[in-house]
Amino acid sequence: MSTNGNGQNEKPRIGVYVCHCGINIAGKVSIDEVTEFAKSLPNVAVSKEYKFMCSDPGQELIQKDIKENGINRVVVASCSPLMHEETFRKATGAAGINPFYFQMANIREHVSWVTKDKAAATEKAKALLGAAVRRVSLHQALEKRRVKVHPDVLIVGGGIAGIHSALTIADSGRHVLLVEREPTIGGHMAMFDKTFPTLDCAACILTPKMSQVKEHPNITLWTYSEVEKVDGYAGNFKVKVRRKPRYVNEDECVGCMMCVDHCVYKKGNVNDEFNQGLDKRKPIFIPFPQATPPVVVIDPESCLQLSKGKCKQLCAEACEKHAIDFNQQEEIKEVEVGAIILSTGFKTFNPMRTPQYGYGKYLNVYTSLEVERLVNASGPTGGEVIMRNGEQPKSVAIIHCVGSRDHKTNKHCSRVCCMYSLKLAHLIKERTESEVYNFYIDMRTPGKGYEEFYDRLLEEGTHFIRGRVAEVTDWALTPEEEGKLIVRAEDTMVGMPRRIPVDMVILSVGLEAQEDADDVRRMFGISCSKTGWFTERHPKLAPVSTATDGVFLAGACQGPKDIPDTVAQAGAAAAEALALVDRGYVELEPNTAFIVEEDCSGCKSCISMCPYTAITRDEEKGVAVVNEALCKGCGTCVATCPSGAAHQNLFLDEQIYAEIEGVLSYV
Ligand SMILES: Cc1cc2nc3c(=O)[nH]c(=O)nc-3n(C[C@H](O)[C@H](O)[C@H](O)COP(=O)(O)OP(=O)(O)OC[C@H]3O[C@@H](n4cnc5c(N)ncnc54)[C@H](O)[C@@H]3O)c2cc1C
Ligand code: SF4
Ligand code: SF4
Repeated sequence: MSTNGNGQNEKPRIGVYVCHCGINIAGKVSIDEVTEFAKSLPNVAVSKEYKFMCSDPGQELIQKDIKENGINRVVVASCSPLMHEETFRKATGAAGINPFYFQMANIREHVSWVTKDKAAATEKAKALLGAAVRRVSLHQALEKRRVKVHPDVLIVGGGIAGIHSALTIADSGRHVLLVEREPTIGGHMAMFDKTFPTLDCAACILTPKMSQVKEHPNITLWTYSEVEKVDGYAGNFKVKVRRKPRYVNEDECVGCMMCVDHCVYKKGNVNDEFNQGLDKRKPIFIPFPQATPPVVVIDPESCLQLSKGKCKQLCAEACEKHAIDFNQQEEIKEVEVGAIILSTGFKTFNPMRTPQYGYGKYLNVYTSLEVERLVNASGPTGGEVIMRNGEQPKSVAIIHCVGSRDHKTNKHCSRVCCMYSLKLAHLIKERTESEVYNFYIDMRTPGKGYEEFYDRLLEEGTHFIRGRVAEVTDWALTPEEEGKLIVRAEDTMVGMPRRIPVDMVILSVGLEAQEDADDVRRMFGISCSKTGWFTERHPKLAPVSTATDGVFLAGACQGPKDIPDTVAQAGAAAAEALALVDRGYVELEPNTAFIVEEDCSGCKSCISMCPYTAITRDEEKGVAVVNEALCKGCGTCVATCPSGAAHQNLFLDEQIYAEIEGVLSYV
C-alpha cells in the first residue's frame, strides 16, 4: 500500500534501483553484486536493477513499488544528478510521495567512467550507494515555491543581436526595454557597406529593422544609456539605468540638422568616431544619416557652451523646435523586468599591439573597420577607395589574422576575418584597378555560400599567399619602390620568402571582448572566459543561457560570430526569455539556506560571504535573514557561520553525517 506523501515519522521503507546505463555502468560495475549488497542495508525494502532506469519502464518500476509495495524513500544508483535528478524526483512525486524523498548515487561519472578495475569500481559503487541509503532515511518533505514573473524584458546592447531579440519579443506582445550606450542603435553592422557572402547592402537590411525598433509600440528605446545596477532574481529583476544627457530634447528633435549647419564651427573639429576618425565631426552631430533615433547629440567635451560656458549658441537659435537644452542632467531610472538579454557585442583588436605591421607609423596602413567606412557610400569619401593622400591605390595587401590565432595576442580564431577580407578584396577590386594580395594562414570559409564566395574571388584574380606576414616596412630597394609599403612574408605553399611592394595595407583585425566585459559580467552575476567572452551555461545544451537564471546571451558578446549566427542566436535568446516571462512564474529550488534565529548572534559574517547577496540583517531582531528567492544553495553561509545558526535544506548536518558514515562504514 502507498504511504502518505509527507509522513516524516513513518518508518522508512527504501526502494533501491541500480541502473546499467547500457554498458556505461554495467561494463565496469557488477550490477548484480551491487543490487544484492543494497538488500543488506538498513531500511531497504526492495532492491532492483534495470538496463535504463531513466526510460519509461525504469520509472514505472519505481512508481509501481511506491504504489504497491509501500516504498516511501527512493534511491537510484545511476548517472549524475545534473542529468537525471529531476527525472527521478518527478517520477517519485508522480507516484504519490514527496519528490525530495529521493536520493541519487552517481555510479557512472564518479565510478564506472573513472575507475579502471572492475572489482574496485564495484566496491566504490557499493560505498556510494550505502551513503545514499543512509542519508535518504533522514530526508524531509520539501515544497518548491513559485514566484510571479514580471512580464517585461530588458535587452542590453542595440547591435543586430539586440535589435533582432527586441523585435522578436515585441512582436510576441511582450514589452521590451532596449538600452544602448551609444547615441544610436545599429552596432558594428551599421558601419558596413555590404555584407558577405551575398554582398547585400548592410543599410538596406539593417535600417528598416532599426526604424521598426523605434516605432514598435512594445519597445522602449533608451540610447545613450547604460545599466548601472541590477538587483533581484529570475522573474523579478530591479534595474537602474543611467541616461546620459544628450543636451537635446529627444521628443522635440526632428533631425533636420539645422543646428548642426549653424554651429559656430563651420567645419568639423573632432575625430568622427563612427567614421573611425577618417574625417571630422562638429560638437553637435548625428552619428550617421540613418541613426536611430534620428536625433542629434551634443558632445560636452568639444562644445564651447558646455566645456567653456561661453558660446553664441547659434545651434539653439537655429532650432525651430527649441529642442536644445544645455541644462539637461543625467537621470537614473529604475525599471523592473522578468528576464534580461545581454547583447553587448565586441571590440576590434588594436593593431598598435602588433607594431611589426606599421599601423600608426605608416599613413597607408588601415584597419579593416576603417576600410569598411572607406568603401561605404555614406562614409567619409562617399565610397571612393582613396588613401589619405587623396590617391587611389594601385596595389593593396590584406593581412589576415591580425590579433587572432596568435599566442602573443589572442589564441582564438575571430571567425569572420577571412570572409570580411574576401569581401573587402572584392569591393576594392570593383572600385579600383588594384592588384589585391591576401596574406592568410588558413582560409576559413565554413558558412553557407562562403566557399563559393572564395571561389568567386579566385576567379576575379585576387592573389592569395599562404603564410604569416613577418613585417610591413617602407624600405625601398629600387626607385620604383619609393613611397610604397613593403610586405614581407613566407609563402608556405612554395616554401620561399616573398617581398611585395604595395600602396595600401589593410589589417584584418580580430574580434575581442568589450573592454568593460568584466564589469558587465559582475553586474549581471554571470561568468566570462579568461579572454572576456561571456560564458554560456552549457556549450551544447544551453548555449544562450547563463549561470544566472533569467539572464541570456545573444550575439558576439559570447564569442566571435558573423551576422547570420548572431541573428540565429538572438532569436534563441528571445525564445528563452519569452519562455520564462510567458510562463508567469518561476519555481524556486527548496535547497536554500535558512537561519535558526535563536542561534544567530547577528555577527553578519554570512552577509559579506554570500556571493548572491541573498542575506540581510533584520535590524529589529538583530538576526540574519535569507531571501529564498535569491539563495542559490551554494552553502557558503552555512560553512561560514561561527554560531552554527545557518543551515541548508537537503544538506542538513545529520544528512551529511549520515552520508559520510555510509561511506566510512563500508570502507
Ligand atoms: C571589419 C568587420 C567586417 C565585418 N563584416 C561582416 C559581414 O560582412 N558579414 C557578417 O555576417 N559579419 C560581418 N562582421 C561581423 C559582425 O560585425 C558581427 O557578426 C555583428 O556585428 C555582431 O553583432 P552584435 O549585435 O552581437 O554586436 P555589435 O555589433 O558589436 O553590437 C553591440 C552593441 O552593444 C552596445 N553595447 C556594448 N556594451 C554596452 C553596454 N554595456 N551597455 C549598453 N550597450 C552596450 C554597443 O554600443 C553596440 O551597439 C564583420 C566584423 C568586422 C570587424
Ligand atoms: S554568520 Fe551566522 S551568526 Fe552571524 S549573522 Fe550570519 S547567521 Fe547570524
Ligand atoms: S547558500 Fe549561498 S546563496 Fe544561499 S544565502 Fe547562503 S551564501 Fe547565499
